[in-house]
Amino acid sequence: MAIERTFSMIKPDATRRNLTGAITRILEESGLRVVASKRVWMSRREAEGFYAVHKERPFFGELVESMSSGPTIVQVLEGENAIARNREVMGATNPKDAAEGTIRKLHALSIGENSVHGSDAPETAKQEIAYWFSETEIVG
Ligand code: ADP
Repeated sequence: MAIERTFSMIKPDATRRNLTGAITRILEESGLRVVASKRVWMSRREAEGFYAVHKERPFFGELVESMSSGPTIVQVLEGENAIARNREVMGATNPKDAAEGTIRKLHALSIGENSVHGSDAPETAKQEIAYWFSETEIVG
């Protein structure tokens, strides 16, 4: 199976509750390796740009507000089947639907404050990694 890279975020609702280590540990225990990581407090403009695909959705304003409300840990994760594996360990968008043992089941507060982000496909992973990291910041 191919080694992939995916983009992950530990969102402000989670950094606020000091869950950076707990969430990173779950990612690492699932077989993913953190090959880039930094803490950013994104501006509204950066959040709008990152989530531009959702700009017509009713929750867009709430999403931008929440993502610019505090620090986020942006990460690149590497491993076998990293995109699907990360989505699996994150759990469903709504924590009420998330499977036992997933990050969102364990830590998310609501569908809006759901603690983590993960790319959903190879093309979005590539774009999202490039949005936050230069090649020299990724050390495999
Ligand atoms: P995922 O993060 O699981 O890929 P989506 O791409 O559908 O989910 O949505 C992006 C983010 O927008 C979600 O993680 C969540 O923070 C927010 N969001 C999605 N749906 C809603 C909703 N109905 N109400 C509030 N926020 C939402």
